[in-house]
Amino acid sequence: MTSAGIAVVGASLGGLRAAEQLRAAGWQGPITMYGDEPHLPYNRPPLSKEVLAGEAPTTATELRRRPSVADVEWRLGLAVESADLTARTLTLADGTVCGYEGLVAATGVRPRRLPLSSPAGGPRRHVVRTLEDSEALRAELGDGVRVLVIGSGFIGCEVAATARKAGCAVTVVAPEAEPMMLALGEELGRVLRRRHEARGVRFRMGRLVSHLHAEGAVLDDGSECGADVVVEAVGSVPNVEWLRASEGVADLTDGVLCDEHLRIGGLPYAVAVGDVARFPNPRYGEVARRVEHWSMASECARHGARVLVAGLAGGDHGLPPFDPLPSFWSDQFTLRVQSFGMPGVGERAELLEGDADADAGSAEGDVLYGYYAGERMVGVVALGGARAVALAGRYRGELVGVPAGPWI
Ligand SMILES: Cc1cc2nc3c(=O)[nH]c(=O)nc-3n(C[C@H](O)[C@H](O)[C@H](O)COP(=O)(O)OP(=O)(O)OC[C@H]3O[C@@H](n4cnc5c(N)ncnc54)[C@H](O)[C@@H]3O)c2cc1C
Repeated sequence: MTSAGIAVVGASLGGLRAAEQLRAAGWQGPITMYGDEPHLPYNRPPLSKEVLAGEAPTTATELRRRPSVADVEWRLGLAVESADLTARTLTLADGTVCGYEGLVAATGVRPRRLPLSSPAGGPRRHVVRTLEDSEALRAELGDGVRVLVIGSGFIGCEVAATARKAGCAVTVVAPEAEPMMLALGEELGRVLRRRHEARGVRFRMGRLVSHLHAEGAVLDDGSECGADVVVEAVGSVPNVEWLRASEGVADLTDGVLCDEHLRIGGLPYAVAVGDVARFPNPRYGEVARRVEHWSMASECARHGARVLVAGLAGGDHGLPPFDPLPSFWSDQFTLRVQSFGMPGVGERAELLEGDADADAGSAEGDVLYGYYAGERMVGVVALGGARAVALAGRYRGELVGVPAGPWI
């Protein structure tokens, strides 16, 4: 058996930040990073934006690594097949068994695929999660290419904008009433749709794709949607299969369930971080949720690393429960969406700044919505340019100040 020390499974944003934070928390022992991709950690947000648009080389996505992790061991291009959380061993895809003292689960998510059959000569199907995915889709984009984006979450909307900028004829099909509805609510989603439409993106909201054929897709109302390329952006599946053998210890329902300190199964030597971690956030009640936001990977890493290092030393970490303020951004055309808090747990949205109807054409007015549970603001989202982002930033302070408690 090889390798003791801390095993970080998943060598991407969350894994890298965890390694750095382990060093910051005083861990001086070995750290081994296990990643199934052949690359050193790279940044995913540009994959649906600059890299997909051909505006940035793929090499520009490599994440800067702090000097403190210069001595970690990288085992890349090889999946961890299974983990035993009791015996503290990992089995790699080549059969190697490695021991560990502490474990960080940072295996993220993969795109959900639709159960549609692909007819011969029909549209070419893509997803966007990895560098290779982005490169493959970029090679398809160009003037007049008909792109059907299935799903209107932030990745679907970003891909639609990038493909449109590349001259493609873009249609977005999704079952919700408005794009990005889970993150923005219906009103701001409507504003976003209008701004996309003003730039030539077509939407078929409230619709599903029934099947694909040689010329494109048939929707659930029987209508046709011509397509050369189909992009599936219909959510994600957490990468937890490697933990199945430890299911008695770890709850793997929708990610890896963690306690309020990101520990898996309450174990002092195992934590989860990033997209794969499902944890309760006392700001928003007791429900455990996964949060697929770039900034959350770093926040989890900071807390999880300190908990893990203290746990391995047999001591108390002395930290309050993990209660991060979620935030995400999304860039679509020249528009930025900036969110703080958790708008999705709000019961109503209120326009705080700007004129939601002023954009029916191609106007660029900034808008800012607040989201409320009772009288409490639980989230704020800005859509527009730099000024709107700064406005949202001001409300951030108000959201940080909301006391933790079981009020939702
Ligand atoms: C196209 C795209 C655009 C995005 N844009 C934004 C944005 O604008 N704003 C924002 O806030 N967020 C954005 N995000 C989300 C953000 O990138 C993620 O939240 C972040 O990547 C999460 O990091 P992670 O390390 O938890 O997971 P990942 O980045 O998914 O990394 C997990 C790693 O683990 C590997 N792995 C999985 N299983 C195994 C195994 N068994 N053995 C070994 N390795 C394994 C995976 O291959 C992967 O390399 C975007 C995501 C995508 C895909």
